[in-house]
Amino acid sequence: PIAARDHSAALFAEFGPWQRALRDQFPIITGNPELAYLDSAATSQKPQAVLDAVQAQLTTANANAGRGSYPWANATTALVADTRDRIRTFLDDPDPARSAVHFTGGTTEALRVLAQDWLPELLRDGDEIVVPFADHEANLSPWLEARDRLARQGVRIRVREMPYQTSSGDYDPAALAELTGPRTRFVAATHVHHVYGGNMNVHLIRRAVGPDVPICLDAAQSIGHLPVSVAELDVDFVAFSGHKALALPGSGALWARQARGPEFVPGGWRGSPNTTGVASLAAALDWLEAAGTDRIARWTVALAARLSDGLRQLDAYEILGCQRSLPVDSPVQQRCGIVTLRHRDIGARDLGFILFSHGFMVRTDGHCQGRAGERSSSVRVSLHVYNTPEEIDRLLAVLVSLA
Ligand code: PLP
Repeated sequence: PIAARDHSAALFAEFGPWQRALRDQFPIITGNPELAYLDSAATSQKPQAVLDAVQAQLTTANANAGRGSYPWANATTALVADTRDRIRTFLDDPDPARSAVHFTGGTTEALRVLAQDWLPELLRDGDEIVVPFADHEANLSPWLEARDRLARQGVRIRVREMPYQTSSGDYDPAALAELTGPRTRFVAATHVHHVYGGNMNVHLIRRAVGPDVPICLDAAQSIGHLPVSVAELDVDFVAFSGHKALALPGSGALWARQARGPEFVPGGWRGSPNTTGVASLAAALDWLEAAGTDRIARWTVALAARLSDGLRQLDAYEILGCQRSLPVDSPVQQRCGIVTLRHRDIGARDLGFILFSHGFMVRTDGHCQGRAGERSSSVRVSLHVYNTPEEIDRLLAVLVSLA
């Protein structure tokens, strides 16, 4: 048996009552005590407050936004405007009067909108952009497609690969300094890596490119999991998905530091917004703020540390990314609640089936990783505030029995 060192005993004891009260608000979790949902990086579960907000919107004031002038239409228009402000506050927007919030169907659409509508205007022949090849495909293909579209118009853009250190789980500052220069016009970065579990130090990028180059942050895995301050991170765009942050699928947003044209919505400029999704997003952000994203980060990082600590003692498993090497008590800012692993002999899909036979729901494939990503599939355990140290211990016990 492994002696899983419990570095976080004090944290689990202190935060235990807080966490139990929050966990009790997720009907799908409390209704399935024999199951452990460990796939929150794919999508999150929803607290009752979000379900109630959706029901209230649909049963008391459902109308299209920005059109009619009767009370339900006014209420829906106000909901959309208020939620934009809600997102600005949640992101710690330093200059809300200048920024824009565009509702999208999620991170993928937000990045595509940026790549199609905004990026081409910025770029001239011979310019360079830096994008991550080993992060999520959603944060790679829009930029490559933009390059190809521009090339057909005779504008040649060079796409540089964001240098990445898998060992420390961060972007490589020395390589970044060499890679960026006077022709660098744009950088697409990721906040939390969806496979390697690293919480990227975005300041490294700002330091490399200086104050004037726009940085877009894919925050799909950080919004809802840890505090995200655009003022502190000094980024120009943030893309995120509602469904990964306790809200409904099909909701999400692109925040832009400087508004350029009217704030737009899915379906094109000034189309009909997903008002139910917007209602769910507003409720989810309220819920997260009340719960405390800082505490959520500390809780999920402690769970991930408990799991990776246990796994490191088992030769049968390889841990991918920074959870393999970061000290168990390393600062919360360096990691997140994602641990990805492989078994020496058991394939990822088979391991997933075995784990589900014990009630654990995990992700088992290549995780939509970009072109420089891992080639073979792996098992990803991803955590949220509803997960518990007991679930991690039960999971470790099964993994030990398979070692
Ligand atoms: N970026 C990252 C880092 C992700 O993990 C994901 C989804 O897993 C996405 C982008 C795409 O998000 P969505 O499918 O919600 O658009």
